[in-house]
Amino acid sequence: MPAYRAPRGTRDLLPADRVALARLERLAADLAARYGYHPIETPLFEQAAVFERGIGAVTDVVEKELFLLAPREEDGERWALRPEPTAGIVRAYVQHGMQTWPQPVKLTMTGQMFRYDRPQAGRYRSFWQFDVEAIGDPGPAVDAEIIELASRFYAATGLVDVTIYLNSIGDAACRPAYVAELAAFYREHVGELPALEKARLERAPLRLLDSKDARVVALNATAPKITERLCDACAAHFASVRAHLDAVGVRYVLNPYLVRGLDYYTRTAFEVYPAGDEGQQSALGGGGRYDGLVELLGGRPTPGIGFGLGLDRILLALDEQAAPPAAEPGPIAVVVGADPAATAERLRIATTLRAAGLVARAELGQRKLGKQLEAAARDRAHFAVIVGDELADGQVQVRDLEAGTQKLVAVDDLVRELERARTSHHHGQAQPS
Ligand code: AMP
Repeated sequence: MPAYRAPRGTRDLLPADRVALARLERLAADLAARYGYHPIETPLFEQAAVFERGIGAVTDVVEKELFLLAPREEDGERWALRPEPTAGIVRAYVQHGMQTWPQPVKLTMTGQMFRYDRPQAGRYRSFWQFDVEAIGDPGPAVDAEIIELASRFYAATGLVDVTIYLNSIGDAACRPAYVAELAAFYREHVGELPALEKARLERAPLRLLDSKDARVVALNATAPKITERLCDACAAHFASVRAHLDAVGVRYVLNPYLVRGLDYYTRTAFEVYPAGDEGQQSALGGGGRYDGLVELLGGRPTPGIGFGLGLDRILLALDEQAAPPAAEPGPIAVVVGADPAATAERLRIATTLRAAGLVARAELGQRKLGKQLEAAARDRAHFAVIVGDELADGQVQVRDLEAGTQKLVAVDDLVRELERARTSHHHGQAQPS
């Protein structure tokens, strides 16, 4: 027995494991770039208050799992290893005045997170996450785009069968009344609650909904559902997220008990599990909207949405499945259009292109067509796919941004047309993996 060993709950990634993880990191970076996300790197530790305020004091992650560091020199400051990436990235967004950048600011980071959790299979004290954050866009189209990105990542890793669970957890307008109703419900059943849940009942009744205790899970089946208590604005947002997901062909399962473990979420929340396995240690990833977080960490009120996908668990699931690695992306097209309401069409077309292996992004914001084309040129996109009135006839304008020419192309021929151009121009090809 050697005198020194990797700390409990951590493990060394020996070359074969590190190569497998590197493949996921590369897939994550390529995919995020294809969707217009830029890399960021924040420190592995932050002021503990960033997590305590951001994530919420009454959460497992802060109450039980935060790795607090003993200060050596800087008196009075408390530090903690990051248990998740969002709070640190949002802290950076505020600190560096990213509110003045073009919104949304789309950032991605892949790295290690630390939680002082009880170690077991699939649950480590140090683990890896692929994270994306779109800060400054209230959605709902970007919500669907992010969920679609997540589902495409799983497909790219070679994981064949995952289930996406979706919920809306409301906002400051409708959640308080729901939480009060939920607390009243639990008070009626206080005798059935275990000690931890009883202690949390008055401070954070929502936490009880994602309790893993069997008695609470059973009780929750009869609890009031947030999706039946959403205000009009949240209900409309949720309906539109779902319509956009349908438009891009992402399948999901509604789960009204999904609240996520962290306080900062509003509205859209989602989690991904291997199909048929919803065990506590099997969540492959999750994310959601956090429209209050920027303000909570000292910035101006700014909406945001993101996800964190657990890479260790994807590797474990791939091992079980022995799946082959999947294909790599091709060149760049940007799907643009003058109608600010037509985001679903643009998203759908971009999704079709990406699904065919092309590097494509859709303009989902409200800016004018001219600005969209400028941005496409700045991205050094080869083509702009312009979605307009011709779509009624199944056609779009394809502008070759390098040659300055433009022609009508049937939507059904779009992939073939762009692929043909890619081979003749050798333009914007992705790095082979
Ligand atoms: P969360 O923000 O807690 O939903 O975490 C996002 C994802 O990170 C989860 O769905 C897991 O895949 C992964 N994850 C979270 N905690 C751990 C852990 N202790 N060990 C390994 N993976 C984890």
